[in-house]
Amino acid sequence: MSTGTTPDQATWTQRYGDALMNTFGAPKRVLVRGEGAVLWDADGGRYLDLLAGIAVNALGHAHPAVVAAVSEQVATLGHVSNFFTTPQQVRLAERLLALVEPGGAPAGSRVFLASSGTEANEAAFKMVRRHGGRQRPRILALEGAFHGRTMGALALTHKAAYREPFAPLPAEVEFLPFGDVAALERAVGPDVAALVVEPVQGEAGVRPLPPGYLGRARELTQESGALLVLDEVQSGMGRTGAWMAHHLEHVGGGVVPDVVTLAKGLGGGFPVGAVVALGEHAGALLGPGEHGTTFGGNPVAAAAALATIDVVEGLLPHVRELGRTWREDLAAAHPAITEVRGEGLLLAVRLSSPVAAALAAELMDRGFVVNPVAPDAVRLAPPLLLTHEQAASFTAELPAAVDACTGAP
Ligand SMILES: *Cc1c(COP(=O)(O)O)cnc(C)c1O
Repeated sequence: MSTGTTPDQATWTQRYGDALMNTFGAPKRVLVRGEGAVLWDADGGRYLDLLAGIAVNALGHAHPAVVAAVSEQVATLGHVSNFFTTPQQVRLAERLLALVEPGGAPAGSRVFLASSGTEANEAAFKMVRRHGGRQRPRILALEGAFHGRTMGALALTHKAAYREPFAPLPAEVEFLPFGDVAALERAVGPDVAALVVEPVQGEAGVRPLPPGYLGRARELTQESGALLVLDEVQSGMGRTGAWMAHHLEHVGGGVVPDVVTLAKGLGGGFPVGAVVALGEHAGALLGPGEHGTTFGGNPVAAAAALATIDVVEGLLPHVRELGRTWREDLAAAHPAITEVRGEGLLLAVRLSSPVAAALAAELMDRGFVVNPVAPDAVRLAPPLLLTHEQAASFTAELPAAVDACTGAP
């Protein structure tokens, strides 16, 4: 217990274990402050944040634009129910419609605002059900998919350990081999309601879909009348250097999906999610009374998202440029690094042995926050305003950290 001085990390961690449910394992650090891409723990330790709350803090910590927008909005009008609207909510929906397709969303497109990724996908799942009805009972997703933890989103998530304790789930989703066009061609038919995919799988280890896959998926779903739902919760909102990962020519090939889900980076650290439904029938996917949320579209959350979007817009060229040079430098940093994959500032550094957990712990001790996204890969999803110098400081530290956990000299 505290004795009057500020409790240290060990004390907070003990109290955490006594008060919080053990869903996340032991916390790695107790964090008390952040500024830009830098974090501090309760014992004064300093870190370069290369994870950004899992691709959330697009503008790092305490960005003045977000601080000002949130402070001003909470001091003006903090919350209203969805019996009402606010200028912030309307502006955010308009802004998302304008940026979710490169040429602007097609006429008829509509937005539903939520507060997290799983809620965005849960709403998309309901749209898929309403679209499919009894005629189209089948829903397709990909092996390795992660779409969230609520029951509908969980039904779309592939990992057995996440799903099995909670069976029965609301759908028997069929999981197709990742990136396999022939398997997709076999699976899509007139009884399919939707294909749900991440353009870059995040939790499966940062795996972009192979070029051509989404283009073929669009043709097949269009022909059969199924919805193409893109989960851009992690890969969207500028993370890859384009507003949406599917805007990248080699990832999306110019496809226009039916539904795009967003969250993570959208609110710059504030909990915001969104579903953007595209095309003339979009507004009919969920009708009056068919869905709702208390917090979705909250004006403070909307103000945070609008401020974040304004700043991220100017950072997109930087994300592409830094992503390109950093991945080359990382790939050459150590012989045990076999691959650097991903897009923009959503990257995974793959190693020749399954030491990612040990490497992440070693890097944390050396002042860098990354996460082991696969047994043999660490994920980098830093604030989009990470500087070249900050990125280089990590590249310089990496070889010694790899040596320390592979037992090399
Ligand atoms: C994180 C994530 C989700 C879930 O978002 P939450 O905000 O944690 O509910 C869904 N889909 C993808 C691709 C994600 O990366």
